[in-house]
Amino acid sequence: VKRAKKTGNTELYNHSTFDVVRTQFGIETALRRAIDNGDMRLSFQPICDLATGRIVSFESLARWAPDGREVSPSDFIPVAEECGLIVPLGRWAMDEAARTIAAWDKRAGGYCGANLAVNLSAIQLQRDQIASLVGRTLDSHGVAGSRMMLELTESAIVSDPDRIAETLHALKELGATIAMDDFGTGYSNLAVLQRLPIDVLKIDRSFVSGMLSDRDKVAIVRAVLSLAQALGMRTTAEGIETNELAQTLAALGCSYGQGFLYARPLEADAAFQLLSARNAASTA
Ligand code: C2E
Ligand code: MG
Ligand code: MG
Ligand code: MG
Repeated sequence: VKRAKKTGNTELYNHSTFDVVRTQFGIETALRRAIDNGDMRLSFQPICDLATGRIVSFESLARWAPDGREVSPSDFIPVAEECGLIVPLGRWAMDEAARTIAAWDKRAGGYCGANLAVNLSAIQLQRDQIASLVGRTLDSHGVAGSRMMLELTESAIVSDPDRIAETLHALKELGATIAMDDFGTGYSNLAVLQRLPIDVLKIDRSFVSGMLSDRDKVAIVRAVLSLAQALGMRTTAEGIETNELAQTLAALGCSYGQGFLYARPLEADAAFQLLSARNAASTA
C-alpha cells in the first residue's frame, strides 16, 4: 500500500486512498466468491503433549489460494472481520472441522486419537449465536462436543465480559474446551480471565520463539505458566521450532506444544496419516 506523501498534492493523496479501498474491496469480493463456491480449505497443525510427544489435537487454520497463490490468513481474516464475511467464513470453518473429525473417526474405526481446535473471531462471538451454531454443527456430523476446542483471542473478551462469560458457559455445556489464543499480546484483565471458563492458555509465539536467548521472554513464559497453574488451566506453547525449546518448555511444566518442529499445517489427509503414524509409534 502506497503512503500519501506530504506534498499537499490532493490528487496523490486521493489516489493512494483509492488504492487502499480498491485492494480491500478486491479481497472482499474474491473472498465472498471463494466462500460461496467452496474454494476455502482448512489445514491442520498438530498440538503435542510435551511430556510424551503424542499428538493430542490439531488446530484448524483457514487456507485460501485464489488463482493458485496462497493469501495469508493474517491478510484475509482482518478483511473478513471488517466486512462481516467472518461470520459465514467462521460457520464454514466450524462445519468443515466437524466434518473432518467425523471422517477421521470413521477412517480409524472409532476414536481417531485427537481433537480439533477452531479459531473464533471476536466478531463471531458478538454477532453469531455461537453456542447454538456449534451445537447444531456437531449434531449434524454426529460429533461429541468434547472433540472440539474453541480458540478465542483476548480482544473477544474485553468488550462485553458478561455476555462472553455466558456464551463460554454455554459452549462448555456442550462439552467443548476453550483456549485463550496468543495469550500475552492483548489487554485482557486478569480478573476477567479468572472469571471465564478457560481451559487452556496458548502462549504467543512472540514470547516462545526467542526465549532461549532472551531472559525477559523466559521470565514472561514462566509467569504465564505459573499463572495458568494457579488458575487450574493447561498451557500450549506456540511456535516451537527446535527440540531444545520443546525440552525447555516441558521442563518448565508447559503441557502442550505446537510448531514447525512437529509439523507445519497439513492437508486433512496428511494430518490423519501423521496422527496414525506418530501415535502408533509412541504407544509401541
Ligand atoms: P493462530 O490462531 O495463532 O494460529 C497459529 C499460526 O502460527 C498459524 O498461522 C500457524 O501456521 C503459525 N505457526 C505455527 N507454528 C509455527 C512455527 O513454529 N513458526 C512460525 N513462524 N509460525 C507458526 P496462519 O495459519 O498463517 O494463521 C494466522 C492467524 O490467522 C491465526 O493465528 C488465526 O488468528 C487466524 N486464523 C487462521 N484461520 C482462521 C479461522 O479459520 N478463523 C479465524 N477467526 N481466524 C483464523
Ligand atoms: Mg489459534
Ligand atoms: Mg495462536
Ligand atoms: Mg498466534
